[in-house]
Amino acid sequence: MCPDTNISRLYLDFDSFFATAEQHFNPALRGRPVGVVPLDSPHTGCIAISREAKALGVKSMARIADTRRIVPDMIFVVARHDVYVRLHNRIVDVVNTVVPVAHVRSIDEVVCHLLPSEAREGRALADRIKAALAAAFSPELTCSIGIAPTELLAKIGAEAHKPDGFALIELADLPASLAHIALDDLPGVSDGMEKRLQAAGVTDFQSLWALAPKQARAIWRSVEGERFWNELHGQHAERLPTQKRMFGHSRMLPADWRTPQKVTICARQLALGAARRLRRADLRATKLTLGFKGGGYRGRSGSRKDDLRWDWEGHFLPTRDDHTVLATLAQGLDAAQRAVGFPPRSVSVMLHGLIANEQMTNDLFLTPTAPEQINISRWEAVSDLMDTLRQQHGPEAISLGGQDAVPGGYLGAKIAFGRIPDQSDFGNAPVADEDTHFCTV
Ligand SMILES: [Mg+2]
Repeated sequence: MCPDTNISRLYLDFDSFFATAEQHFNPALRGRPVGVVPLDSPHTGCIAISREAKALGVKSMARIADTRRIVPDMIFVVARHDVYVRLHNRIVDVVNTVVPVAHVRSIDEVVCHLLPSEAREGRALADRIKAALAAAFSPELTCSIGIAPTELLAKIGAEAHKPDGFALIELADLPASLAHIALDDLPGVSDGMEKRLQAAGVTDFQSLWALAPKQARAIWRSVEGERFWNELHGQHAERLPTQKRMFGHSRMLPADWRTPQKVTICARQLALGAARRLRRADLRATKLTLGFKGGGYRGRSGSRKDDLRWDWEGHFLPTRDDHTVLATLAQGLDAAQRAVGFPPRSVSVMLHGLIANEQMTNDLFLTPTAPEQINISRWEAVSDLMDTLRQQHGPEAISLGGQDAVPGGYLGAKIAFGRIPDQSDFGNAPVADEDTHFCTV
């Protein structure tokens, strides 16, 4: 390889990660069509499917009932996110033995910054990583690796050669070497972005490549377009870490979980998870939002578009305590009981208006002796104490009010891009690696 290729990034992306993780931990699942579902409910769809299922024509997101029509003996297991997070941590350790991981991009994707000597190894470097992973885990747990001048190009390379693939993308070979790639297969090109690109006359990789940076910015309607252009053309566009502006999650409700009682259980657990993360980040919140979505017609892709939504917000003095958060949530749920005229398909609870401790002490409008403020300080002390007890005696040691089981568990610790939860995010006791959670429906 020519020494001046500017190759400096390696992107590693695991294939069907949740499904292969289940096959890794349970040898009986190897070689079988496996679907991983978020909840033990017949109404959910697969969040990952094994390559054997893919080969039989099953699409990811397929619902259990539809999938069984195509593959009657398909095995469904419920996702165990804490198990996947532990596996992720072990994977990062193994990759680090070959080349240091610079950034974790998701539970199954990492990027490494390569030294010139590493970059010159090319495929041999990828093979060394794969060999280290195979030795540490099992052959099921495969990944695809891209090596390129920028992270975007390396990611494109990894994604274009799945499963167990490798691609080395050289700037000198562009755009010809990627001419076959469909626009919507590119990271960062969503359905909506593809439509905007088409409206601007960009219909394939060649015409995307030919854009000027300013045109890209106009099509993206943000500086993100220019960032994409730069990365595509071999120039690094590092992303600045974004300031956290809210904590919380939304959650799909299975059909048998759309009653007011069960929605309340879900919303309370979402709120408690958000408050716990708020305390870990050493922040206080001033606003809680509660939202429901529902209704919906099926779009062209078969996925349902929620067309009914209801949103509520409640305000409070800056706090990080469970009591205030739950009391505010209760007001929102009361309002919802009166106003929401549709069965919700999803519920979201978020904490906003985040304030750091330093800001608190400087805020003149807060009178430390005001009765509400004294009350909040007491409840904060209670919440801090409960966090300490949970750390010492396990996540189920103590909570305000009852702890009702939610199907699938893991509320508040769903794995999101860019943030890998740790064990303390999971409201349940750890699940053993080998404890496969088979669907009962
Ligand atoms: Mg992946």
